Amino acid sequence: MENWESYVRKVVPYVPGEQPDEKRMIKLNTNENPYPPAPGVLRALRESDADRLRLYPEPDCGTLVRAIADYYGLDASCVFAGVGSDDVLAMIFLTFFRSEKPVLFPDITYSFYDVWADMLRVPYEVRALDADFKIRKEDYCGECGGVIFPNPNAPTGILMELADIEDIVSRNRDVIVVVDEAYIDFGGVSALPLIRKYENLLVVQTFSKSRSLAGMRIGYAMGAPKLIRYLNDVKYSFNSYTLSQPALALGVEAIRDKAYFRETTEKIIAVREWAKGELKKLGFSFGDSMSNFIFVKHRSVPAEDIFEALKKEHIYVRHFSGERIRNYLRITVGTREEMETLTVFLRGYLESRERIVGEKEKEL
Ligand code: PMP
Repeated sequence: MENWESYVRKVVPYVPGEQPDEKRMIKLNTNENPYPPAPGVLRALRESDADRLRLYPEPDCGTLVRAIADYYGLDASCVFAGVGSDDVLAMIFLTFFRSEKPVLFPDITYSFYDVWADMLRVPYEVRALDADFKIRKEDYCGECGGVIFPNPNAPTGILMELADIEDIVSRNRDVIVVVDEAYIDFGGVSALPLIRKYENLLVVQTFSKSRSLAGMRIGYAMGAPKLIRYLNDVKYSFNSYTLSQPALALGVEAIRDKAYFRETTEKIIAVREWAKGELKKLGFSFGDSMSNFIFVKHRSVPAEDIFEALKKEHIYVRHFSGERIRNYLRITVGTREEMETLTVFLRGYLESRERIVGEKEKEL
């Protein structure tokens, strides 16, 4: 190895879900929204003024920050915006997780947390979910350098009660607790009201899922003004112009349209509940997802086989290799039609697989 290589920051990167470029596919692998963005977003996109792209965007993301603050009835000083919640979360790790004590998060969770921690040399410890894949709040109440978990958790989809979250926040007043609410709009109860009571709480949300704007990359954190000031200081020390001018303009349109938001999230919840019934009939088991995906395990056919069979049909779902979850698939909730195509294919595939296994068993 040449000497320069010993000074390189070597990291094991996060592996994002595939973004295949196929005309005819059913894409249920990265928890995107199957419906288009709100009509106002499409209008603003059509009417956008390309000449404005000569100029840098607002460094403080002010118009979008104010629109988000208005939506939640907050002061703008309580909102920080970034390039997707990945950017916001990375800034949070950089700003607040500076203790020598370990930051705590679940063993089965968003697989970016340990990547940021490793890259930024943040010490961390994982806490095992219980046998039903639930977060045990008692595990987050000792001395530590911070706490972060998604609610609902990913990839399990399981929601934690607000009272349990408040317990974690109130028992960790010396460190920052981050609740990553990427999937909260699909039936969960947000921890947002707690930010008025607890200065050590940050609630992070995104436009990528419930607002159909994954391609625009918009995320935000909400918390006490002091936390937001610290976050902005780090952001301005890193990259001052984060969100692009189109992202700011389209984000404002997306958050203003409450009726469209309600309609599309309700549709996704209804399809999810229907799909749960179908998947159960097909021999899958799963926790009670309150997100826009279902984390399933089949009674007899290995997840990897199902994953490959679906891929051949141009149906993409997500498979993770972690030890406790390698026999699970995470299936994003698509439209009713997409989910019908999925379940029809699975019915045929699983019946033939189980028949073959049954016949082999008889032969033995
Ligand atoms: N948190 C969780 C739990 C997620 O699953 C995701 C999506 N990959 C994100 C944050 C990041 O989403 P985005 O950067 O698109 O806002």
